[in-house]
Amino acid sequence: MLIDSHCHLDRLVDNDQPGALQPVLDAAKARGVEKFLCVSVSEKGYERMKNLAMPHPEVVISCGVHPLDIKDGFDPAWLAREAADEKVVAIGETGLDYYYSQDNVKDQQAAFSNHIELANRLNKPVIIHTRDAREDTLGIWRESQGNAGVLHCFTESWEMARDALDLGLYISISGIVTFRNAEALRDVVRKVPMDRLLVETDSPYLAPVPYRGKTNQPAYVHEVAQFVADLKQVRYEELLNQTAENFFRLFPAAR
Ligand SMILES: [Zn+2]
Repeated sequence: MLIDSHCHLDRLVDNDQPGALQPVLDAAKARGVEKFLCVSVSEKGYERMKNLAMPHPEVVISCGVHPLDIKDGFDPAWLAREAADEKVVAIGETGLDYYYSQDNVKDQQAAFSNHIELANRLNKPVIIHTRDAREDTLGIWRESQGNAGVLHCFTESWEMARDALDLGLYISISGIVTFRNAEALRDVVRKVPMDRLLVETDSPYLAPVPYRGKTNQPAYVHEVAQFVADLKQVRYEELLNQTAENFFRLFPAAR
């Protein structure tokens, strides 16, 4: 089964009507995509995202506030309330981004810990965004005794991947892996064990080659999966079976 393990469907459509996502989902289904994990980034956008996802049983959602969105406010009580809903299969995306934002590092760290602790209480996995914050990301994960999670849209070093794998984390690969200058990332993908890999689009961002520069969409997870299968030197079908198995092991409530 081909799954887009990380997309922002609400950012792909302008209107708020139930069924607004249908064309996006249809385009993806035409390429074989059967499941979508639609990932929350802010409290402000959450209600709309949830309402858009609601009519579609093949779309599951997460709840959380992105490290670059906590400047607009982060309310742990809100998160605890919303995240307990059974439709919410994961907590996040949360994490640390020191590349784009160094002036609120302490706030990012506090919010990240809060997400992990809540995830532990609810027994839900965590979707982690990390950029230029390798040591702190894994340090806080250890301190907060993170249980299950994924480093999404992975672009870091093999050393970080290895340490994350040792902590039981999964590694999710986006269309960045198809970019011409991503040789280091391709090396990481070759080394990550098959049973710890996921594929994603992170749409509407980061469209894979040959759509680079265009609006990304879940349909293009096909290109990512094909590319990763080639890197791993396995058949496309095998890659789909393995990544789907991994997805449901990590996100059991998404079944
Ligand atoms: Zn994302």
